[in-house]
Amino acid sequence: MPNDVYNGIVLRVTDYRESDRILNILSRERGLIAVTARGGRKPNSKHVAFATQFVYGEVEVNERFGKLQLSSSAVMESFYPVRESYEQLVSATRVVNAAEHVSEKDQPNDELFVLVYNALSVIAYGGNDPKDAELCFMAKLLRLCGYAPTLTRCLKCGRDLRAEKEVRFSNSLGGSVCGLCGSAFKTVSTLTLEALRRMMLIDVSEMRRVRLPEKVRAELEPLIYNYAEFVFEFTVKR
Ligand SMILES: [Zn+2]
Repeated sequence: MPNDVYNGIVLRVTDYRESDRILNILSRERGLIAVTARGGRKPNSKHVAFATQFVYGEVEVNERFGKLQLSSSAVMESFYPVRESYEQLVSATRVVNAAEHVSEKDQPNDELFVLVYNALSVIAYGGNDPKDAELCFMAKLLRLCGYAPTLTRCLKCGRDLRAEKEVRFSNSLGGSVCGLCGSAFKTVSTLTLEALRRMMLIDVSEMRRVRLPEKVRAELEPLIYNYAEFVFEFTVKR
């Protein structure tokens, strides 16, 4: 049987047996795949460069009894600088963890693949605060998965909220609520919601231009992760 070739990003690496590695790869052609790199932990292994988190490359895989084994691998982009600072590493790790959570086995999702690739690229090479690319990734991921929150009108009374300075945000209702309808929910500035709205809408190629004001970044991070944890049912390490 001929081997299959995939382009993919290594989202997670798990050590297995004495010297093997299992790679959870987001492939462009087949969605999430788990591939065993036999001997992938040995320093002289031909797979040692590829069998590393965040690496993008081309793999040749053979399938036996439903299990995928790596037969050859070529690194095309290691996103090496994501490992250069703690902040970059945290942002890149959150990107790949969230991507793995929402991706599906054997279900190609080109938009997701392109989003992850661009986010890692901006975190590695963008030169801005990596948190901005990470939050932009999360905003776009929510939208891609059908969870774009409502941000400009009250979800209860329908009132336009764009002229307000502060509104409320409800995870369970899925977005903004006016002060009268949602006094129990947390307040958020409309400036932060506008930043979130723009980040959801921009093209991925524009991600590197995102620069959030400090105040917006500080407010948006807990808001976006509380909401993402609610809709995706996952926990983000903080
Ligand atoms: Zn209202």
